[in-house]
Amino acid sequence: ATPTAVMVATGVGANNGVLIKGGDALEKAQKIKYVIFDKTGTLTQGKATVTTAKVFSGMDRGEFLTLVASAEASSEHPLAKAIIEYARHFHFFDEPSTTRNTQVHGTESKYFGWLLDVSDFSALPGQGVQCYIGGKKILVGNRKLMIENRVTIPEHVENFVVELEESAKTGILVAYDNDLVGVLGIADPLKREAAVVIEGLIKMGVNPVMVTGDNWRTAKAVAKEVGITDVRAEVMPAGKADVVCLFQKGGNVVAMVGDGINDSPALAAADVGMAIGAGTDIAIEAADYVLMRSSLEDVITAIDLSRKTFSRIR
Ligand code: ADP
Ligand code: MG
Repeated sequence: ATPTAVMVATGVGANNGVLIKGGDALEKAQKIKYVIFDKTGTLTQGKATVTTAKVFSGMDRGEFLTLVASAEASSEHPLAKAIIEYARHFHFFDEPSTTRNTQVHGTESKYFGWLLDVSDFSALPGQGVQCYIGGKKILVGNRKLMIENRVTIPEHVENFVVELEESAKTGILVAYDNDLVGVLGIADPLKREAAVVIEGLIKMGVNPVMVTGDNWRTAKAVAKEVGITDVRAEVMPAGKADVVCLFQKGGNVVAMVGDGINDSPALAAADVGMAIGAGTDIAIEAADYVLMRSSLEDVITAIDLSRKTFSRIR
C-alpha cells in the first residue's frame, strides 16, 4: 500500500471511531490469526450487578451487607462497586430505619452514616479484599482467598456457589472472623453485539479466545453464551501477557482486546493491542488501536480496513 492509502485508511478508521496508532498497526491487523478477548468490561458490559445475597450464618442481612460494603469501600474493583451499590440500596430503600443507627458488632458506623471503620485494608489482585472490622478479620473474594486463609467452605455453601457459576454469575464468598458468613452472586451481562461479532470473526477465519481472572465455571458459561470455545480462566493479573505469548508461538499474529489496568501488559505484548475506548487510560496507552465507540463490532472494522488497504485476499 502507498503512504497515501495508509493515510486514507487511518482517516476512514478515525471517522468510524477506530483510532489507529501508525501504519505498522494498520498493516498487522490483516494477518491476525487469534483475537484474545478479556471477559469483564470487554465481552461483558462491565456493569456488574448483585443478583443474590445469601447469608449462611445467623447474621442479620443488613449487618452482613454493611460488613461487606465496608470491606469493599477502599477497593477500585468493579465487583466492589456493585457490592456497595447493592448494600446502599438495601439500607436506604429497603430498610430506611437502619440507616440512622447502624451498629455492627458494637462498632458504630462513621462514614455516610452506615459504612463501618476499617483497618489494615489490602486488595489482593485476582482474589479479593481483606481488612479488619471491630478487631475481626473480614475476607471478601473467591475460593482461592478462602483457601489461602484456611476458611472452611461448607458443602451447602460450595453447592450454592457452583449453582451461581453455572448460570454465568460470579460467586463472591464472605468470611468474618474465619467463619463463612455469606455469598454474593454477581451478574455482568454480555454486550449486545458480542455473539454476532464472534460469529463474524470465525467466518473471517479468525479464532476467538477468552481470557479472564474469573473462575473456570463462570468463564465457561459466559464463553458458551457468546460462542467462544477456547477459554483461559483463573488467570492472575500478570498472566494475561503470558497467554498472548502462548498463542504467538510459531509466529501467529495475535490481537488482544481489553479495557482494564490488568490488560495493559497483554495489550503491549500482543502484535495488535486493541483497547476499549471506555476502558482505563493505561490500557488505551498500551494499545495500537483504540475502539472509541467501545463496540466489539469495531474489531471487525479494524481487520476489514487493514485487509482492504493491503488487498489481502484469503
Ligand atoms: P477479571 O480478569 O475478570 O477482570 P480480576 O483479576 O480483576 O478479574 O479478578 C479475578 C477474581 O478475583 C474476581 O472474579 C473475584 O472473584 C476476585 N476479586 C478481585 N477483586 C475483588 C474484590 N474487590 N472483591 C471481591 N472479589 C474480588
Ligand atoms: Mg476487563
